[in-house]
Amino acid sequence: MRVLQAFRYAIDPTPAQERACRSHLGARRFAFNWGLALVKARLDAKARGEDVRVPYTLPALRREWNRAKDNAAPWWPENSKEAYSAGLDGLARALKNCFESRAGKRAGQRVGFPQFRKKVRRQSVRFTTGAIRISDRTHLVLPRLGRMRTHEPTTVLAECIQAGTARILSATLSIDCARWYLSFTCEVERGERQPTRPTSVVGVDAGVRYLAVLSTGETVDNPRPLPKAHRQIARLNRALARRQRGSGRWKDAARRLGRAYARVAHIRADAMHKLTTRLARTHGTIVVELLNVSGMLRNRRLARALADASLGELRRQLGYKCFWYGSQLIEAPTFFPSSKTCSGCGAVKATLPPSAQVFRCDHCGAAMDRDLNAATNLAALAAVSVTGSGPEALTARGRDVRLAEHGEQSQMNREAGSADAQKTGAAVLQGAAA
Ligand SMILES: [Zn+2]
Repeated sequence: MRVLQAFRYAIDPTPAQERACRSHLGARRFAFNWGLALVKARLDAKARGEDVRVPYTLPALRREWNRAKDNAAPWWPENSKEAYSAGLDGLARALKNCFESRAGKRAGQRVGFPQFRKKVRRQSVRFTTGAIRISDRTHLVLPRLGRMRTHEPTTVLAECIQAGTARILSATLSIDCARWYLSFTCEVERGERQPTRPTSVVGVDAGVRYLAVLSTGETVDNPRPLPKAHRQIARLNRALARRQRGSGRWKDAARRLGRAYARVAHIRADAMHKLTTRLARTHGTIVVELLNVSGMLRNRRLARALADASLGELRRQLGYKCFWYGSQLIEAPTFFPSSKTCSGCGAVKATLPPSAQVFRCDHCGAAMDRDLNAATNLAALAAVSVTGSGPEALTARGRDVRLAEHGEQSQMNREAGSADAQKTGAAVLQGAAA
């Protein structure tokens, strides 16, 4: 089967290359803002009753850009044309989302009119044509930027390409907390696989206290550096507060704080990847919650946000990994009371205080760990789904295919880089050759 897969590498550009990389990010932002200014001016003119055409689509924006670029940005040949194209593409998408949202054709939160892009912590630019390749174990080649050193070996992808099982479709250059990355989007041919225990069913409860609790009774701990990192973050936050906002020393402190946060996010993301790969490779059926019902009950705001993000990432990764490894992913219906139901007798409690770490059943007297109880209830859902009476028996393939694509798509959207894009994805998606 053929899937889209991202391979992400940290890279170490030379100082000259780094300047060129920054220039490309700047060029992308410039093109976006230039296009937005043009659209706004044309809309104003139209409102005044003038007969003008507003360039909403990428081809229209590109035509306008090519006509105007010699005047608007005489330095344009310094960067690959892909940089400007990426900026205009981002604008065209933002406009489309906004209009569809206004017309009620788009689900989810309302999307506002695009705003001018500022320099943000996380930016990216995507290359789709020209010389994009892996040149050896530790180097890759990009148009205009040339041969760049990778921070980690590219062996896995290089071997797949050599064997003809992977083809690079595009490359996205990005910066996050002063670290440069290159992500290759590839079409990968994957062999049909089966999980090692095809009949095994596991329920997974993602949370804060633990990274995850499995219905098998296993608790997967949060990665260990977290408490230490939290102390460091608290210290850096205090240091930041003592500096004068906007000063050189303030910027320095802010950068250090950003890196500390990024490190925590990376460590967590890595642990999550390892967990989801192991689950998808081992168990035939995996059941997760759609909403973090048990996580929501713990009332601290931060904890809740973390749990939600954690569950979202767990589901996103399991979505495509289950498809890769031939296992089945089942999502519990929205209001399934996984943490209020007794996994022993099925009695449902009216309330369960957020602080209660142990579930005590009023009906049969059973007592067990709250998260384990929730995970066990999730696993039990699989039996219902298989007999077909389950409310949302999302069995496998068709569903998983879409999830796999969605996973990649959202990864790309993230790389296309809105400012508050999720801060997780550090680890290279694993398991291409494995
Ligand atoms: Zn009970």
